[in-house]
Amino acid sequence: MSEGARPALPPLVCPQCREGLAVVPGGVYCRACPAHYPERDGILLLTAGREGRPGYDPHHFEALARVEERHFWFLARRDLILDVLRRMVPDLAERPLFDIGCGSGGLLAFLARAGVPIAGACDAYLESLSLVKGKVSTPLLLVDEGRLPPLGFPQGLLGLFDVLEHLDDDQGLLRWTRSVLAPGGVLVLTVPAHPFLFGGIDDLAHHRRRYRRRELEEKLVAAGFEVRLLTHFMAPLFPLLVGGRWLGERLRRRGAALGLGPEFAIVPGINGLLRRLLSLERLWIRAFPVPFGSSIIAVATPVSPPEAGG
Ligand SMILES: [Zn+2]
Repeated sequence: MSEGARPALPPLVCPQCREGLAVVPGGVYCRACPAHYPERDGILLLTAGREGRPGYDPHHFEALARVEERHFWFLARRDLILDVLRRMVPDLAERPLFDIGCGSGGLLAFLARAGVPIAGACDAYLESLSLVKGKVSTPLLLVDEGRLPPLGFPQGLLGLFDVLEHLDDDQGLLRWTRSVLAPGGVLVLTVPAHPFLFGGIDDLAHHRRRYRRRELEEKLVAAGFEVRLLTHFMAPLFPLLVGGRWLGERLRRRGAALGLGPEFAIVPGINGLLRRLLSLERLWIRAFPVPFGSSIIAVATPVSPPEAGG
């Protein structure tokens, strides 16, 4: 990689001892352990051997990457996230986004095309990161599953897009996020909503839970955040998920044909209709929170430490 073209790394720490890392030719090394983490094909391997299983269903990643560009759920989600970033982060141009759990990078590439500066991204699957590499030029980190990401203080803008629901200790990740954000830093996150909707789709996606709005708010506040936006979205999906047995069956058949779950099926007429409904919902969210919907989006900032007075 030519020195001039190399994107600057965000503050990083050693995944094993959490001490600072120094950049050396071909990778980074830990000043404390001292472990060395190589860079291969533009991806920094910041793992201690607990990355996602190599070769885990690789065609799944590619199928998902294709679906991401056409499926109403991904399109509506990325439009809303861009809208929320532009409205809630006034200094977005100077506050590059680091995407924790970037998957195959469809969202990241969309945000980059829309002019959102990108600080980097991490994921526990090399197959995912290989797909991201072709879409966005930004530092990419392979990280361990079930460990706190190897990011250090200070971070300016962190994204946790459909990540928390996969973790046993979601509260621990939120506390960690609070600890690495700079004063004035911003966390933007999305999660699946309504625990009573928990079902086969969640099992397939290895979700630990879905969230109540109040529960997410309480967890953010307990982790030291001030919540600046908290709203459901995907409201048009809510009645379908509650009562749509007919649709569910059609989606299951089409999803199976792609080698993916039913939630990834693209049914032509319905895909377009839901995309239009969800565009209207995005305008609604600019004015008012939406009281129900199959997902929740939140924006939070670290609570400032109390003024040292007297
Ligand atoms: Zn170390």
